[in-house]
Amino acid sequence: MTAKAILPPSMLGILGGGQLGRMFAAAAKTMGYRVTVLDPDEAAPAADFADVHIKAPFNDAQALDILAKTCAAITTEFENVNADAMRELARRGVRVAPSGDCVAVAQNRIVEKGWVKKAGLATVPYLAIETVDDLHTDLTPYLPGILKTARLGYDGKGQVRVDTPDAAREAYADLGGQACVLEKRVELAAEVSVIVTRVSHTQMNAFPVAENRHEKGILDVSIVPATIPAAVAETAQGMAKQLADALDYVGVLAVEFFVLEDDTLLVNEIAPRPHNSGHYTLDACITSQFQQQVRALCGLLPGSTALLKPAVMVNLLGDVWPENGREPNWAVLMEAPNVELHLYGKKEARPGRKMGHFTVLADSAEAALVQAEALKDTL
Ligand code: ADP
Ligand code: MG
Repeated sequence: MTAKAILPPSMLGILGGGQLGRMFAAAAKTMGYRVTVLDPDEAAPAADFADVHIKAPFNDAQALDILAKTCAAITTEFENVNADAMRELARRGVRVAPSGDCVAVAQNRIVEKGWVKKAGLATVPYLAIETVDDLHTDLTPYLPGILKTARLGYDGKGQVRVDTPDAAREAYADLGGQACVLEKRVELAAEVSVIVTRVSHTQMNAFPVAENRHEKGILDVSIVPATIPAAVAETAQGMAKQLADALDYVGVLAVEFFVLEDDTLLVNEIAPRPHNSGHYTLDACITSQFQQQVRALCGLLPGSTALLKPAVMVNLLGDVWPENGREPNWAVLMEAPNVELHLYGKKEARPGRKMGHFTVLADSAEAALVQAEALKDTL
């Protein structure tokens, strides 16, 4: 514990009231803190666990004023909040973690990749496209590629696959001429992620590496431990810490990696918050990523990241909800003795929307995966 640690029943604020905010609030409330959520959505999932729900836009001056006056510390559940608002809250003397500066890095793929390089880590070959002039160069090193908007992409949105220079220029125009990166499409042996909790250089740890499989650009399952060689996993953890150090990061930082055939690790992107691929920690680790978020925010030491059991987390998307023609059998998941079901209480189940997840705990990741796939088939 540091001298200035913030203890219960202090009020903690969070910008954003989605499922990540909900799980943060649940963790904070369990520890005895009080929670204020800022989210314009009346039905924000985090509101169920919050003492106070301020229904206002994220840059609303009056709302930010209330947060500054009533909260001992403030965090965020997503990167697309106003980084300036976070800087302003910090300027007013509230503890803010992660910093507005770190959040700003994660908001922009060009800036983000610059920091990855600055930290001494590798990315896929990419071209930063700030204006159309940047496309008047030899694009062949980045093709076949993916054109991604620098800002506001998630779950594969704001991305276009392009195979030729003409297609790249056309896609850039189609995306409205906004800043983009053109990334070379690489052959992936696997995708993994590391979640780091950092309070200071000497107070930092990493969760076990998760291996992530996507469906249509959306995370489908996370497998822990990852099926990559242990030495590669350890390297990934070291890299994630290196990046957290370079950013002088305080809070929970998620780092997504591409693993190539030869075990090369390339940093794909970062998230300045707990991550979908870390939901397994809720049930499979001594400390969850949301408890870590509370700890780091309050200046407490990170908790143990020890894995209690191999685990597979499966996302539940709106596609399997009744309004989309399915009849999910939650009882099957709830009755399985080694499965934990989490539903986020979202009112509207759009296809592709993250509605919940379940985690299978078993004696091996292989066994957990077999059971997880079988359970998916029963939904
Ligand atoms: P998002 O913000 O939507 O998560 P990502 O940049 O992580 O965007 O891309 C989503 C997914 O698309 C990745 O997890 C990966 O499966 C695939 N992908 C993205 N970029 C590349 C690339 N350069 N080469 C190969 N696959 C990629
Ligand atoms: Mg991603």
